[in-house]
Amino acid sequence: MVKCINVAVPVPFLDQLTYRLPDGIATPVRGARVLVPLGTRLVTGVVAGEGEPSPDTPTLKSVVEVLDAEAFLPGPVLDLALWVADYYACGAGDAVAAAMPPRAMAHGRASAHRTVRTAAVTVQGREAIDGRTAAPPGSKQREALAVLAGAPEGLALPVLRDRGVAASTLARLARRGLVAIRRDQVDRDPFAGWAAPVLAGDDPSADRTLTDEQAEALARLEALVAAGEFRVALLHGVTGSGKTEVYVRLARAVRAMARTVLVLVPEIALTPAVARSFRSVFGDEVAIQHSGLSDGERYDQWQRIRHGAVSVVVGTRSAVFAPLAGLGLVIVDEEQDASFKQEETPRYHGRDVAIVRGRDAGALVVLGSATPAVETYHHARSGRYEHLRLTRRVLDRPLASVRVVNMREEYAAHGTDVIFSQPLVAAIGERLGRGEQALVLLNRRGLATAVFCRQCAGTLECPNCSVSLTVHTERSGRPRGRCHYCNYSVAVPKACSQCAGPYLERAGFGTERVEAEVTALWPHARVARLDRDTARRRGAGPDTLSRVARGEVDVLVGTQMIAKGHDFPNVTLVGVVSADVGLGLADFRAAERTFQLLTQVAGRAGRGARPGEAVIQTLYPDHYSIRHACRQDYAAFFEEELRFRRALRYPPIVGLIAVVFRAPTFAQALEEASDLAARLREGRDETLRVLGPAPAPLGRLRGEYRVHVILKGTHRGAMREALLAALASRPDLRRRVTVDVDPLSVL
Ligand code: ADP
Ligand code: ZN
Repeated sequence: MVKCINVAVPVPFLDQLTYRLPDGIATPVRGARVLVPLGTRLVTGVVAGEGEPSPDTPTLKSVVEVLDAEAFLPGPVLDLALWVADYYACGAGDAVAAAMPPRAMAHGRASAHRTVRTAAVTVQGREAIDGRTAAPPGSKQREALAVLAGAPEGLALPVLRDRGVAASTLARLARRGLVAIRRDQVDRDPFAGWAAPVLAGDDPSADRTLTDEQAEALARLEALVAAGEFRVALLHGVTGSGKTEVYVRLARAVRAMARTVLVLVPEIALTPAVARSFRSVFGDEVAIQHSGLSDGERYDQWQRIRHGAVSVVVGTRSAVFAPLAGLGLVIVDEEQDASFKQEETPRYHGRDVAIVRGRDAGALVVLGSATPAVETYHHARSGRYEHLRLTRRVLDRPLASVRVVNMREEYAAHGTDVIFSQPLVAAIGERLGRGEQALVLLNRRGLATAVFCRQCAGTLECPNCSVSLTVHTERSGRPRGRCHYCNYSVAVPKACSQCAGPYLERAGFGTERVEAEVTALWPHARVARLDRDTARRRGAGPDTLSRVARGEVDVLVGTQMIAKGHDFPNVTLVGVVSADVGLGLADFRAAERTFQLLTQVAGRAGRGARPGEAVIQTLYPDHYSIRHACRQDYAAFFEEELRFRRALRYPPIVGLIAVVFRAPTFAQALEEASDLAARLREGRDETLRVLGPAPAPLGRLRGEYRVHVILKGTHRGAMREALLAALASRPDLRRRVTVDVDPLSVL
């Protein structure tokens, strides 16, 4: 009898493939890696289960080698990945690859590079520093020695690079015998690099008294943990209500029962408070998993988790697949955050997968938020989730008082090119005078958002995408137009490329311009900016944040990156330059996102002893998302939002699947989308509605035209089946179609 196994191979969109086991190769366990032929290549796949011998078994290809004697992926993690493949309609290998540590599916056996190069001062180097011998001539070399002098054991090269020490400088010092470079065997500690300066600081005290609300929530959650059954709880607590303290104490209770804890955060670099709190209680028992780590670091941590050396994992989205055994608690902090959704295949939502993981493990899942996702609150209100509330800040600190400025009136009084209203200028000035700090938010990067010609009205557009180019200041100081989607960039021309007229003007403004404006108004203020442009440099984001924490920055300007999770006691003012930036988007979540962003950012003010204030500038003071955000009234916002979702049939009233067709011409994309839509409509399932085809709001992206079809329905299983059946009839389209189940936006 021929034996067969099913294997998930890392090839986009492929289902599991069946292979036969040749004589002499023992049956591998489920979750082990195997080397199998695929086309003309050999690839590493993961055994998903026993295969069915069928009439065509003799023609099946054979497994070449079994790479693991034991399961590489634990059973529950493999099951979770296969669930993801099914639910999000992607390939089995796509999902399994997402669950694997880096390089584990590279051809052959995985190798972890367990060494790091470290530089340390030599005896001669010390003498040079002390002035007992001639010091090196270059200032760069002297600076490098000064940095190394503070670390007798030496510093890893990546750490030195983050501190501005170039590899060439180190090489020169090494040649002079002032520095020695060695190779260290390490189990890398990801906290050692960027995290250290952020992690230092206030230590959450083990014996601080909980507020009544914290104590009540904790007691309820502990009871749920003790029941040892799957349950989802929403911990709905206003900003500064001390949710982290509740998580940590609950985690202790779970550890006391010898079960493990998984904590998901939206972006680890921006949520140091959470990582720090868990580390301070659980020390080395904590592993960290996020995409900011190098492959080697991630691999090491993954192995530690896999071998049971770790009982608490803190990580971003992909950590939902961490190979923890005996899971008792899953925490998803800031569960409403859009970064939990992966915007490439597999397009899974970390929070939703976390809930499935908790269900399979019989664990408690705690979703924490000050502004829950509409879906989450909907389930909490209906009783499907436990609903726990923290309505007050710790130590009876008041929520920030919010003041709305109608920019139409400001424009009428002071002209349309003002960036800061009079009330905001006054409020920032006051903070500077008192030595307090201010955050200024504008959720849009760059210097200007468009360049247009006053003569022919032409605009500077991306040749690949249907968007206008954003103006950024380059290092050279010259302006450059850049596409935020495909990264195309061009020097801003002096004359219009269409009519040759020299009348180019800039419109709109972003964070770069706001930063310049702050500097112009308050030349002595210490200003910093945090957005995707400044954070691109490795370590720059955490570095800016720790400078703010140390009081070395007076005004921090930034995008939504500054709105999340930080706890700066000396920030007493938050200014929002244009609260309506996101409302213009043709997206059903625009109001929800705006409400969340405003509430989050207002929550950054007044977290210390002094009360906070928020000044919100807007053109639409009457829009419900802005009105309710100013009163920080989540429930009222939710009621209005749900009415809108119900009227237009959007989630959580129905489920959505967005199908985007990409093609070199619009006609082709439209033709293919129409064909698929027609096949979908043939099914005549009453629970399913097919909208489109229609040009996607982003009609062109990276040189391709985009047309979409949207499925709406109340039964996701039926929707998926109908879609997969339709797609199966056009296999030629598979690579040009993007399927997004539960899309966060339909742009
Ligand atoms: P949230 O995540 O709900 O916005 P945090 O967990 O960041 O709030 O807590 C806000 C601040 O209050 C933190 O500095 C935290 O250490 C502190 N804190 C939490 N609980 C208490 C308590 N019971 N007493 C005093 N301070 C607390
Ligand atoms: Zn582009």
